[in-house]
Amino acid sequence: MNHPPSGEYFGRCGGCGEDVVGDGAGVVALDRVFHVGCFVCSTCRAQLRGQHFYAVERRAYCESCYVATLEKCSTCSQPILDRILRAMGKAYHPGCFTCVVCHRGLDGIPFTVDATSQIHCIEDFHRKFAPRCSVCGGAIMPEPGQEETVRIVALDRSFHIGCYKCEECGLLLSSEGECQGCYPLDGHILCKACSAWRIQELSATVTTDC
Ligand SMILES: [Zn+2]
Ligand SMILES: [Zn+2]
Ligand SMILES: [Zn+2]
Ligand SMILES: [Zn+2]
Ligand SMILES: [Zn+2]
Ligand SMILES: [Zn+2]
Repeated sequence: MNHPPSGEYFGRCGGCGEDVVGDGAGVVALDRVFHVGCFVCSTCRAQLRGQHFYAVERRAYCESCYVATLEKCSTCSQPILDRILRAMGKAYHPGCFTCVVCHRGLDGIPFTVDATSQIHCIEDFHRKFAPRCSVCGGAIMPEPGQEETVRIVALDRSFHIGCYKCEECGLLLSSEGECQGCYPLDGHILCKACSAWRIQELSATVTTDC
């Protein structure tokens, strides 16, 4: 050093590169020395001496600038200070990642989303979006432990397998293929025998009326 500094020498300022000399002139932070006026938030330049500050990649930030750099939770819009739960490209507090119906936490639990990205537990998703049985009105859900829903579709309507039976005699109709063993008449689900019987009855009525 050409001109040995007078006073107490602390080292070179990590901010401006000049010598830090004299009591009370310096701040030690991030393993470096700064002039008091040079130890500032990397974003807003606010002085950080005596303040809470956060170090990210050897840069210092004031609390509000640090919080502003954090990812926000998609549910509550608050910064995420701890673990980030990521799902569908969004960030959540683990506690904010819940089913929109039952509000159960879904951290680490299988979930699914509807067309508007609303999060549902599997059960509520099925309850909400499952096809309805046109006989009993209940949701047609997969059997416990099954992935796929088994249902019968006939006449543009859905049926539980057990609900797909002749309206007349209650005979359980075949579950194999669409409308196999089913002889619909005027939108009624009938077995072969009852269908034939009704047709006969109808044509009989027609004949007598004429
Ligand atoms: Zn400085
Ligand atoms: Zn700041
Ligand atoms: Zn949240
Ligand atoms: Zn739920
Ligand atoms: Zn049913
Ligand atoms: Zn029948």
